[in-house]
Amino acid sequence: MLKISGAHDLVKAQGCLGLFADQQDFENAQQGDLLERRQQGVNLEFLNAGQVADLEPDLAAFHAGGVFYPDTRFTVSPLGLCRRYAEHFTNNGGKILRDQALSVTPKIPGVSVKLTDETLDFDHLVICAGVASKELLTPLGVKMPMVSERGIT
Ligand SMILES: Cc1cc2nc3c(=O)[nH]c(=O)nc-3n(C[C@H](O)[C@H](O)[C@H](O)COP(=O)(O)OP(=O)(O)OC[C@H]3O[C@@H](n4cnc5c(N)ncnc54)[C@H](O)[C@@H]3O)c2cc1C
Repeated sequence: MLKISGAHDLVKAQGCLGLFADQQDFENAQQGDLLERRQQGVNLEFLNAGQVADLEPDLAAFHAGGVFYPDTRFTVSPLGLCRRYAEHFTNNGGKILRDQALSVTPKIPGVSVKLTDETLDFDHLVICAGVASKELLTPLGVKMPMVSERGIT
């Protein structure tokens, strides 16, 4: 998406640093969830307090060390990124409708989507309604393995 919409300028790749205030917590994490992340292929480096200070000299010395993720990226503007994607979509013939999908019904061929005032037919449908995707999919017999927590879907 970044490539085809030319939005590279909105994403930075400077890594991410997580810090631990307590040495024991840091050691537990290295044997626990951080180890698990590494085993699942996440690229991460453990840094002691001195190494963190070398990396971030302006940081106060309140911590016992931390973990650096060199491969992470972040956007400097979530809104700008969404707008760039939306522009790319409409510039290539896409149409944006602002409405609520009430239900999805398979047809042969295709699929129909009931909105608040109309029902539209499509050849294919991508459902990306976040945590509400599950609700739209359940009547179709699709059990989506999705767990949501506050702030995380
Ligand atoms: C406070 C907060 C901070 C977060 N911080 C981070 C972070 O720093 N980094 C990170 O990676 N993630 C973060 N997350 C998690 C991240 O926002 C979600 O994982 C991500 O937004 C999920 O994207 P999504 O497109 O699947 O769903 P969503 O972003 O939830 O988008 C779903 C969209 O579908 C729409 N929708 C729902 N139902 C319907 C319907 N029936 N009809 C039409 N439209 C519908 C919704 O209105 C919404 O616009 C944060 C979340 C929160 C709440």
